[in-house]
Amino acid sequence: MITRFAPSPTGPLHLGHAFSALCAFDLARENNGLFLLRIEDIDQSRARPEWETLIYEDLKWLDITWEPDVIRQSERLGAYRAGLKTLEQMGVLYNCTCNRRDIIEAANAPQEGAPMLGPDGIVYPGTCRDKNRDNSIDYSLPIRLDANVAFDALDDLLSWSDNGVITMDKDEFLKSIGDVVLSRKDMGTSYHLSVVIDDAAQHITDVVRGEDLAEATAIHVLLQRLLGLPTPNYHHHRLIRDEEGKRLAKRDDARAISQYRDSGATPADIRQMVGLAQVS
Ligand code: GLU
Repeated sequence: MITRFAPSPTGPLHLGHAFSALCAFDLARENNGLFLLRIEDIDQSRARPEWETLIYEDLKWLDITWEPDVIRQSERLGAYRAGLKTLEQMGVLYNCTCNRRDIIEAANAPQEGAPMLGPDGIVYPGTCRDKNRDNSIDYSLPIRLDANVAFDALDDLLSWSDNGVITMDKDEFLKSIGDVVLSRKDMGTSYHLSVVIDDAAQHITDVVRGEDLAEATAIHVLLQRLLGLPTPNYHHHRLIRDEEGKRLAKRDDARAISQYRDSGATPADIRQMVGLAQVS
């Protein structure tokens, strides 16, 4: 078994991250497996080296140890481009030049019905799909997956394991997720594409992450199928919430691990706060 923790260095780790990292670490340890770390820093406008340093410090303090090779996504743009090239050859990509406002307006057109919200916001109404379908891909522009054509390249529906077997067919995917962005402007990739390529590159067998990402899993499984990559087992865990029931965000500095650390808490206190068993 190989699990991983994949934080973005865009702020301090908080209790929710500690819970996620501990769940993945404990699962690997209980199964004599390996635990890996990956720094998801494709958004270079928000990633900072000091946050990355703090990630290592916080994890060490939590008594979490990881295998020596840490992947940093900002150094893997070549691998993501190769993935895009493969998809381009399959004819499942198109460039999209819509901005947020274009998408809202098109999605709200009377003939479209009520706009659906998917894992990446409003389900894309397809404005650029027909316009740019036959043009060759310009990698300096945003790129979307043509989910309809992509599904036709598969011979059955998507299926994966997440505390039981989950399946999704083409109609449901088109309705609830649609043509997701695989390469963002100024990034050359996207969260969905990078996570799929890197989970495969790191031979991850079990993805442990928050249930806020459960909906996005269908996108990841579709990309794995298109790229010929294995589908890991997924374990989406509950989210850690504040007293008002809101999930914690990076800006919730009061719940930053470093704050607990500075105020004299112990790693055992953190385990208790997030409802995890103590290490025996
Ligand atoms: N980098 C993502 C985050 O910090 C996690 C991605 C994943 O676990 O798939 O929310």
